Amino acid sequence: MTHDPNCIFCKIAEGKVPSRKVHEDDEILAFHDINPWAPVHFLLIPKEHVTSMAHVEDRHAAMLGRMMSLVPRLAQQEGCRPYPEGGFRLVCNTGEEGGQEVQHLHFHVIGGPRPWKKG
Ligand code: AMP
Ligand code: ZN
Repeated sequence: MTHDPNCIFCKIAEGKVPSRKVHEDDEILAFHDINPWAPVHFLLIPKEHVTSMAHVEDRHAAMLGRMMSLVPRLAQQEGCRPYPEGGFRLVCNTGEEGGQEVQHLHFHVIGGPRPWKKG
């Protein structure tokens, strides 16, 4: 699996930097955002270093599908109320104009009772 030694999320995926884990399997890790915008805010990443959504290739399709199918289950596990009263926001910032700060593909799952700090 490709890791970038200078990438903070690769270090988290490898256990070299601590995180508050929400889910872990062979390919995927989910952990709480260090600076949450809302009562529920966690990030879902591939363990492989994929720089952004703009770098996704056909070979990532199955892994991305698994990530997407984890989202509603983990959202509810972390305290988002069910659809339609509850729900969540799924965000994937991509590139400079897309507001991406960490250059390792990640999906934000944000939810819980409003008001939120942001978003
Ligand atoms: P983005 O702007 O989409 O690249 O957002 C990156 C997110 O990663 C921000 O919401 C940060 O709070 C979060 N973040 C950065 N470093 C860490 C870390 N070590 N552990 C958890 N979340 C982090
Ligand atoms: Zn990385």
